[in-house]
Amino acid sequence: MKVHFLGTAAAEGFPAMFCRCEHCAKARSLGGPNIRTRSSVIIDDAIKIDFPPDTMHHVLRDGLDLGLVTDLFITHTHLDHLRAEELAMRLPGYAHGLDHPLRVYGHDLAVAKCMQAVGAGQQEHIAIRRISPFETIHTEHAKVTALPANHDPAETCLLYFIEKDGMTLFYGHDTGLLPESTWAWLLRKNIDIAILDCTNGNLPFTGSHLNIQAVIDIKNRLLSHGCMTTEGKVIATHFSHNIGMQYDDLLDCFQHEGIMVAYDGMVLHHEGVQPRQRGANL
Ligand SMILES: [Zn+2]
Ligand SMILES: [Zn+2]
Ligand SMILES: [Zn+2]
Repeated sequence: MKVHFLGTAAAEGFPAMFCRCEHCAKARSLGGPNIRTRSSVIIDDAIKIDFPPDTMHHVLRDGLDLGLVTDLFITHTHLDHLRAEELAMRLPGYAHGLDHPLRVYGHDLAVAKCMQAVGAGQQEHIAIRRISPFETIHTEHAKVTALPANHDPAETCLLYFIEKDGMTLFYGHDTGLLPESTWAWLLRKNIDIAILDCTNGNLPFTGSHLNIQAVIDIKNRLLSHGCMTTEGKVIATHFSHNIGMQYDDLLDCFQHEGIMVAYDGMVLHHEGVQPRQRGANL
């Protein structure tokens, strides 16, 4: 499984667009992996999660061919995850040479925004479909299940569990501490890759996002239940400038825990391991 991280910042970006704080100034001067845009990943060039306002920048920076994407899963409608208006740029007149529709999935509010942006009668170009918590979709390439997040009570925010070519990926943001219903579902699975919310860094709270300790706790719970082996990959992402931590600072916190720190443009190739004995470490 190839996981391409397009953006790894929280909503404001890091450095933040208008911010003059010392952390943003330092990130600007250091450059490299300290420059973070709004979050999205592409899996095996075909499955994209979220459609942030920095998508055009991602296409130019990483030389993406978004025409290869078959399925787009939206986690929620916060501005750093969905800029629905730009979906129209995939319609005839704006985009040529496409040989399949883009299928877009999200819950109620995400679907409503996408439908409004694309307009009626465009299903053969952009097919928008509602997905509900615990519902599984069989796409052309993968099996994808939506799981409840703990993020914004004003809408149904989703996390995704992707099963593809014998491998699994849990896309765990945006969310605070995972709902127990999500835990109950996850603990029945083998997880090869877990991408987790680390918006709050080493700040001493979680709320609607996670922090470093919460990411470590989730990894340990997955390991202790035998859902993940030591060959599994846990990756922290979605960092806010408010944490005041540059890439190297995050490495210092995570490396000895065996947790990866995502950066913009990072490409992870993970071949997985043989299926584990269920409950081996209970
Ligand atoms: Zn976000
Ligand atoms: Zn700042
Ligand atoms: Zn959010």
